Amino acid sequence: MTSEREGVVRRGHRIIVVGGGAGGLELVTKLGDKLGKSGAAQVILVDRSPTHIWKPLLHEVAAGSMDPNTHQLEYVAQARWHNFEFQQGELTGIDRARKTIAVSACVDQDGDELLPARELAYDTLVLAIGCVTHFFGVPGAADNAIALDTVDQAERFRRRLIAACVRAQNGRGRVGEDGRPRVDIAIIGAGATGVELSAELRNTAHVLNAYGLHQLDPRRDIHINVIEAGSRILPALSERVSAETTKLLHKLDVGVLTAERVTEVTPDAVLTASGKRIDADLTVWAAGITAPAVLRTLDLPVSRMGQIVVGPTLQSEADPDIFAFGDCASCPWPEQQTSVPPRAQAAHQQATFLY
Ligand SMILES: Cc1cc2nc3c(=O)[nH]c(=O)nc-3n(C[C@H](O)[C@H](O)[C@H](O)COP(=O)(O)OP(=O)(O)OC[C@H]3O[C@@H](n4cnc5c(N)ncnc54)[C@H](O)[C@@H]3O)c2cc1C
Repeated sequence: MTSEREGVVRRGHRIIVVGGGAGGLELVTKLGDKLGKSGAAQVILVDRSPTHIWKPLLHEVAAGSMDPNTHQLEYVAQARWHNFEFQQGELTGIDRARKTIAVSACVDQDGDELLPARELAYDTLVLAIGCVTHFFGVPGAADNAIALDTVDQAERFRRRLIAACVRAQNGRGRVGEDGRPRVDIAIIGAGATGVELSAELRNTAHVLNAYGLHQLDPRRDIHINVIEAGSRILPALSERVSAETTKLLHKLDVGVLTAERVTEVTPDAVLTASGKRIDADLTVWAAGITAPAVLRTLDLPVSRMGQIVVGPTLQSEADPDIFAFGDCASCPWPEQQTSVPPRAQAAHQQATFLY
């Protein structure tokens, strides 16, 4: 690992924000405007990706209704406009005694190293690295279902959807009882992500036309099922919202299966505890999240889900120089006697609190 002296010149109090997602990008931009510009502090963003995309847009990328290239922001450009520095790489460790973080090497698309593994010294460290999909150990889920954590995963889903439609139109896919070609999509988890994706997928008509798939009728030939283990969809929202949304999904011809616990995902089906087999050319897993594994290795207190435990000031219980917020933090919400939920809105409010 190379020393930071080779890449970054130290200037005054240094704030490192790791993770330029919904919360981190907002924070680092404001800190750059406020403290970087005046020289009161050196502000650095570390992210494993060179570009930012607002995660709640990923289901639109997956459905093919949004081109990610027109919505991605280059961190380097944002850094230049807002007086912070950008270091690409993945956080792999923290040395709290020396107040340094370890950042992985960074490779290009051909696998050639762009940047070596580095150590960066901080005075104040802010962790905002979000969360990852949790498959709960369901057999076949990690291999056969697609998660929607990154642009690459969303684009992979879109490519596979188009491929399944091309196969169906050309007689190489499944055929329904009505003799028509059919494409089956299973979405596991009826929280906001699963429900939004199912509705968005009904907008694929223009995407199919663009690929010359005129013989497929998106409404009739693309079958979408949302599968939920709980007794109703959108369990985090009120029963009324859940009931109204169920009606809307039915109007869109989206199948809603509740109280169906998924026990296995195979390459072409989803199996449930009640013995059902739901055909699936494509399966999306939107049934749970967990904290990135690296957080458990940092020697900081973490919640059961692996998030950094922070107090009301968003500082780690064990180290006041380390802050964490957004999905990767477990922050008390006394009014609700629970933790702040993992939402873009919460990450935004916490970023606002921090600057
Ligand atoms: C499809 C979908 C739809 C959603 N819809 C909504 C919605 O409608 N409303 C809502 O409030 N919320 C929604 N959410 C949830 C919302 O996206 C998250 O709560 C929010 O993005 C959390 O913000 P964050 O800053 O904590 O993390 P993120 O936005 O996830 O950003 C994390 C950043 O950290 C980087 N990173 C990760 N690990 C490392 C590492 N080890 N080293 C360096 N960088 C790292 C990532 O590249 C990323 O840039 C949705 C989520 C999804 C997936």
